[in-house]
Amino acid sequence: MTSSNLNLIFLGPPGAGKGTQAQRVVEKYSIPQISTGDLMRAAVSSGSALGEKLKNYMSAGALVPDELVLDILLERIGHEDCANGFLLDGFPRTVAQAEALETALVERNSPLSGVISIDVPDQVLTSRLTARRICSKCSASYHLEFLKPQKDGICDKCSGELYQRKDDSEEVIKNRLKVYHEQTAPLVDFYQKKKILYPVDGNKKIDMIFQEICDIIDNLNSP
Ligand code: AMP
Repeated sequence: MTSSNLNLIFLGPPGAGKGTQAQRVVEKYSIPQISTGDLMRAAVSSGSALGEKLKNYMSAGALVPDELVLDILLERIGHEDCANGFLLDGFPRTVAQAEALETALVERNSPLSGVISIDVPDQVLTSRLTARRICSKCSASYHLEFLKPQKDGICDKCSGELYQRKDDSEEVIKNRLKVYHEQTAPLVDFYQKKKILYPVDGNKKIDMIFQEICDIIDNLNSP
C-alpha cells in the first residue's frame, strides 16, 4: 500500500445505501468493498467459535466489541486485493475503531483518502430496511418497491436466492438506529475535524447519489 492508494470509508446509518453505492464504486474504481457486517455474517453462518461469539450482538442490533471487529478488519485489509486501496462499508462504527484504523494506516504509510457520509432521515431508513432483500450469494441489495429484482426472490446479478436479514425487523432496526446515533454519528465530527469528510444527500435517486460520489472521488484523485 502507498499514500496514493484510494482508501475510502462510507459512513452512514443502516439503510443509507452504503452497500448499494459501494457495489457501483467497486466496479468503477476497481477497489474491493469491505463490509464488516458481511464478514461477520459469513463467520456466523460458518458456525465457527468466532461466529458463535458474534451472533448475539448482531441479532440484537448491538455493536460487536471493538477488539473482535478490529481483528477481522485489519486481517482483511492486509489481503493482496487491497494493495491499491479499499472501500470500507460499516467500519468504523466507534471513535475507538476510527483511531485504531488510523494507527494501522499510518504504519502502512497509506492514509485515508476520504470519508463519504450518506445522510438519510430515520423514517426513510426504517421503511427502506423493512423492504430490503439481500442476495445470499453475492450480497447485492434489493428493495421490494424501489429496486425490485427482475424475477421475484432471485438476484439479477448471480441468480442467488434473496433473503431478508433477521436484523431487518422493525424492533431490531429501532435499536440499530439508536446505536448509530449514540456511537457512530460522532464520527461525522471526528472526520470533519480532519477535513476529510464529504457529505452526500442519500435521499435521492440511486444514480444521482452515485454521480455525486464519483465527483467526490474524482476530485480526491486529481492532484
Ligand atoms: P451491517 O451489515 O453493516 O448493517 O452490520 C450488521 C451488524 O454487524 C451490526 O448491527 C453489528 O452488530 C455488526 N457490525 C458490523 N460492523 C461493525 C462494526 N464496525 N463494529 C461493531 N459491530 C459491527
